Amino acid sequence: MKKVYLKKGRKKSVLLRHPWIFSGAIEKTDRSITAGEIVEIYDHRGNFLAKGYINPKSQITIRILSWNKEEDVTDIRFISERLKSAIDMRLNYFDQSVTNAFRLVNSEADFLPGLIIDKYNDTIVLQILTLGMEQFRDKITEFLLEYLSPKCIYERSDTIVRKKEGLSLKKGLIYGKLQKPVRIIENGLEFLVDVQDGQKTGFYLDQRDNRKELLLFCKDKKVLNCFSYTGAFSVYAIKGGAKLTVNIEFSRSAIELAKKNMEINHIKKETQEFIEGNAFELLRNMKKKGKKFDLIIMDPPKFAHTQGKLENALRGYKDINLQAMQLLNPGGILFTFSCSGAISLELFSKTITWAAMDANKNVQVIKRLAQPMDHPHLTSFLESEYLKGLICKIT
Ligand code: SAH
Repeated sequence: MKKVYLKKGRKKSVLLRHPWIFSGAIEKTDRSITAGEIVEIYDHRGNFLAKGYINPKSQITIRILSWNKEEDVTDIRFISERLKSAIDMRLNYFDQSVTNAFRLVNSEADFLPGLIIDKYNDTIVLQILTLGMEQFRDKITEFLLEYLSPKCIYERSDTIVRKKEGLSLKKGLIYGKLQKPVRIIENGLEFLVDVQDGQKTGFYLDQRDNRKELLLFCKDKKVLNCFSYTGAFSVYAIKGGAKLTVNIEFSRSAIELAKKNMEINHIKKETQEFIEGNAFELLRNMKKKGKKFDLIIMDPPKFAHTQGKLENALRGYKDINLQAMQLLNPGGILFTFSCSGAISLELFSKTITWAAMDANKNVQVIKRLAQPMDHPHLTSFLESEYLKGLICKIT
């Protein structure tokens, strides 16, 4: 196996089991390394550190597969074992008569860097993000067919990060027949998921536990669901006793599917309002018109894609939360989220403090929210702890 040597002083993150090695940390490599190849990583003195796959085209040049010299990471048995371990953890946890849609493999946090696998009822969605993982694609598919006997495997490797790996974007059917939409159960409620054209792999599975929290806060409330996508939070709000839910979303197709999600959960049309447009403007208009709500959900898309974009992102988070605080009745509840890996809980809390200062409000955090068990994170890899939320009472 070919060898890569790190610069002096750059081994610490590897010892701490952070799974990425950036191009700047590499001192030298054996000649004629092929992109995607599995290599051994050594410190500058020649001590073994780890094994991983390499892609010289990517800033994240190596993704570590193992810190154990004896482990054969080229053998397909290795991938199968990792897949099995990740999948079994979920299958043991979920009662599928209550929830049959969850993430089976969460990339680095399941020690399978560059691989996402989501399960939507009998349909499996595969997403490969890196060149190194791309090489295992057929083996992974074979394993999934044998181990889970799904009705369908669909690939959604159409995310833009693949370009950083020199890969093209692709999506399409791998096996079986895709239902459009796929029908899933989450916490006993039913949802339609557009696996082919929806956002991410079709549904925001990572908000499952947080949606359930909402049930306890909605009795007789007037709710604003901002960045509502296919309306999942609103379905829970109504099931929790809300009398009205106003949904703000700029994707028309998401709104169309949200309406169908209301229907299949037997939710009356009169309890739902949908406003198509830009949340930043719509919130201001509502304030001008003197609109008020008892509970607001603020679940925006990722504003900070990199550390470099942090400042703008923080301004965005502050702005929407400030607007929300001003739209709430006294004692109102704010469910607020950030899914930016680059923003820590501490920084997110600070942003809420700044918004509260400008809104002249008191903020009481009732509960902290995070990503669910099927989206595990590594303590050595804080980027994987991306979803943070706060339930706040605003007075
Ligand atoms: N809460 C949702 C997920 C929200 S994801 C759920 O539980 O399913 C963020 C959503 O915000 C996406 O649907 C995206 O289309 C929408 N969006 C992004 N920017 C927006 C903007 N400026 N105004 C309105 N909607 C926006």
